[in-house]
Amino acid sequence: MKLLSTELYGNSPIYLQNLLLSFREYANSRKRYGMGYYRFLHQLSGMDENDRQSEERYQDLELRSLLRHAAEHSVFYRDMYGSDLADIRFASELRQLPFIEEEVFDKRIDEIRMQVTRRKKRESEALGDGQSPHLWLTNLDLQKQTAAVDYFKKQHGAINLEMKRATFYNGDFVPHGQKEGAFWRDIYYLNQRLYSAHHCTEPYLSAVVRNLSDFRPDFVDGLSEAILALSRFINDHRLVLDFQAIAVFVETDILPDNERLEIESAFGCSVRRWSMKTERSPFLSECAVGNLHFNTRTGVMEFTEKGEVLLTRFHTKGTPVIRLKIKDQWMPVHCPCPCGSVHPVVRKPLQPISSFLQSRSRGRVTSLYLATVQEKFQQAAPSMQFVQNSVDAIEIWLSGIDLVPKELEQDIVQEMAGIFGEDMRFMVKGRSGSPSEEIGAAGLIINNLQVPRTCPTEYGMD
Ligand SMILES: [Zn+2]
Repeated sequence: MKLLSTELYGNSPIYLQNLLLSFREYANSRKRYGMGYYRFLHQLSGMDENDRQSEERYQDLELRSLLRHAAEHSVFYRDMYGSDLADIRFASELRQLPFIEEEVFDKRIDEIRMQVTRRKKRESEALGDGQSPHLWLTNLDLQKQTAAVDYFKKQHGAINLEMKRATFYNGDFVPHGQKEGAFWRDIYYLNQRLYSAHHCTEPYLSAVVRNLSDFRPDFVDGLSEAILALSRFINDHRLVLDFQAIAVFVETDILPDNERLEIESAFGCSVRRWSMKTERSPFLSECAVGNLHFNTRTGVMEFTEKGEVLLTRFHTKGTPVIRLKIKDQWMPVHCPCPCGSVHPVVRKPLQPISSFLQSRSRGRVTSLYLATVQEKFQQAAPSMQFVQNSVDAIEIWLSGIDLVPKELEQDIVQEMAGIFGEDMRFMVKGRSGSPSEEIGAAGLIINNLQVPRTCPTEYGMD
């Protein structure tokens, strides 16, 4: 990464920058596109996503391999799980193990890490406040992760490395201050042209479109905001691209219908989204029907009663991720996808449909009641949000308060019990950050009980 911020790079002519970038990427890509990449890609091609038995067998096999590896190489998991680790044979048995909070994971990442690697790099310390330390991954981890993503693209007709690829990417490979000339760089070795997402704004967009037309990529991928901005420009100016891309792949977990339409009409091909936001996020990808599936060849995703998501990731042998409680919010959709894949469909918890929470013994409690609770504690807690993930508990979130004073907590619990009944639990929690950005459009109430459990309404997106 250093190369790009040097003066040497910034002051070089474009052709030399292309060459320098290609050299750097050559070194990087040897890590990512090694034999492990090709082997896994080949293996994936031979598997059948519609065959539940074989998919589950493969998942169990990979899980046992990860657990065994963790027990042998990680002090943390050896201590925490003891001999239990070896007893887990199926993904469904994972719940016998305790889960791991992200704070614990971050704090003890050096013990979680594979022992042989501990003497090598220690990159985690370099990060600033509030950022989670990076996982140390082996080359094989990276290769398998890359292969899983490339296989997804291949399923939609795009073959990475063989086909011409235009990628919209946020990086300093084009200096941000650059006002004219080329806002893209080539990586010859990967058959890829990188477009600076930073320059997908006016007045640079017409130059980007012209160049894209010259380049004639077989497929387009990258950041959804940049691709969307470009698409809007193309549509607004009624430009017709004189190449036909196979597909556009956007990295995002949510793509509203109008944005999808915008991109589709600009490029005249289908748009598929995929997501693996961080090293600790699940690998999710969109199928031909438009649903987001969790790829069970890459791990195990568990959903608790409380609406929490626990993630186990197979290709993290360098720093094993096992039953990590992640921040991403996802819910399972409990019905088969018309595409035939047995990989589970997931989606974001719903925004509130109607404004009520459920009391165990007293029926519905409308937002009116909750607004009065909020009013009552206005002084001590200016911003409240009530979240219900199960019928016997409600979470009360106070924004802008890190640590909730005991007395305030008791008062709120008492008030809630008065409205909802004594047979429920109430958890009062504080969270930092400004109220408006935390609560956003979701408002006073989030009722996650209301997610429909039946199928027909689940697939309305295409
Ligand atoms: Zn599907």
